Amino acid sequence: MQVYDTMGRIDLEQPIAPGETFTFEIAWRFNIPPFGADRLGMDDVEDGTVFEIAQWFPAVAVYDDVHGWNTDGYLGQGEFYTNFGEYEVRITAPRSHIVVSSGLLQNADEVLTPEAHERYARALASDETVAIRSAEEVGDASSWPEGEGPMTWNFSARQVRTFAWASSEAFIWDAAGVDIPGSALTPDERVFVQATYPKEGIGTWADAVQMARHSIAFNSQMWSPYPYPVAINVNGTVGGMEYPGIVFCGARRSARSLYGVTDHEFGHTWFPMLVNTDERRHAWMDEGFNTFINIYTRSDYWESEADGGRGSARSIANRMRSDKQQPMMSFPDQIWRGRLGYLAYGKPAAALWQLREVVLGHERFDRAFHTYIERWAFKHPQPSDFFRTMEDVAGADLSWFWRGWFYSTATLDQAVVGVEHNEEKGWVFVDIENRRDMVMPVSFEVEYDDGSVEVRWLPVEVWATTNAWTAGWNPKGRRVVRVTLDPEGMLPDMDEANNEWVAE
Ligand SMILES: [Zn+2]
Repeated sequence: MQVYDTMGRIDLEQPIAPGETFTFEIAWRFNIPPFGADRLGMDDVEDGTVFEIAQWFPAVAVYDDVHGWNTDGYLGQGEFYTNFGEYEVRITAPRSHIVVSSGLLQNADEVLTPEAHERYARALASDETVAIRSAEEVGDASSWPEGEGPMTWNFSARQVRTFAWASSEAFIWDAAGVDIPGSALTPDERVFVQATYPKEGIGTWADAVQMARHSIAFNSQMWSPYPYPVAINVNGTVGGMEYPGIVFCGARRSARSLYGVTDHEFGHTWFPMLVNTDERRHAWMDEGFNTFINIYTRSDYWESEADGGRGSARSIANRMRSDKQQPMMSFPDQIWRGRLGYLAYGKPAAALWQLREVVLGHERFDRAFHTYIERWAFKHPQPSDFFRTMEDVAGADLSWFWRGWFYSTATLDQAVVGVEHNEEKGWVFVDIENRRDMVMPVSFEVEYDDGSVEVRWLPVEVWATTNAWTAGWNPKGRRVVRVTLDPEGMLPDMDEANNEWVAE
């Protein structure tokens, strides 16, 4: 075997023919970094240490029909491109520890006391949060099974793109169940939602199970059923990181930040855990799609944000004004420092929001996006697979949209430049310009001299061959006194000063 940085190459004696298998064993060691590793680490708290462990074993690179072997090394900003796998994992930990993971616990009767085991079973059936190990029991030997020495926790996970786990003697352990009809890998369609946290998290984390229940139930209903039997939220040093069936979430201070991180990390269940994107190259298909679905969960959870995401989508206009623009299609390790949040999260989320709220409408967008998830669940889509499915199912040529939002650094400025009444013809003509290189459909509100108001609309196709379009119609004897572009404030228009025309 040859090792190049974090990649290793093993040449087999015989090639593996299609349909054949090859079995091999690897012995390896993994030193847990004490802190600072974004995606895993250790947190020293009053009652012990919280271990959050991920990216801890060698994995086979993805072989696909686009690139062949995907051997791009890990460089920090770009995440991972991984295979689906079946995992049988045995974790041996001190007897005082609670261990949770991407998998379903297989030997609860061995590693839990009879009382904890009874609570464990009751929690799954309960919609209300049940404490499997309460704050008072942490550190109390009666809360772990009698005997000496460490215990081995057995877990099983199917169809997961990696396997993460957490362990601590400091864990308080809460749980409840939630019905997820159609959940692919959960035969009884009831997902076991859990939260483990040290006493430093008490307060905000008392709600963690219910926050997770909301997030996964809402997304299951809106997009596609949560696929795994477990959904576990762990509080430790990692600020926020997603893994199949388990997420790490550092937030302790406020309910708002805890919900935000919980919802975002569980949102990754759909992208990239279920629809297995190549995050190493296309962060926007993972972070961006997730940030998009977070708009709707958040507005459902917090009444104060019940604007359907208008605020967050509109605020992207400010980022589009800043310098150092790059196309969203840039690979994440090649995005300017400090711009990943904009290009991999905010901008793609705003783009999908525009596509749903402005361009296609809910019915058309949702059918297409559902089909994208359905076609590519447990597979590896490329950007073109997404573009193609959206166009195919929505029944629309969206090439102009992908070009403006995804492949370029284009910005939008629609302007209303004049209104003429042609008395002879009895028509009114409104001159509208597209002053930058992004195109979007136009909606404008017209106010007449009799006080009546109407909203008119131009399809994006008006910009196919010109940057100046004249909209004409018969105003039925009324005179136009005001024209306002984008009256609902939906578009990231770079210059709002030219969005209104008022009669002298
Ligand atoms: Zn994320």
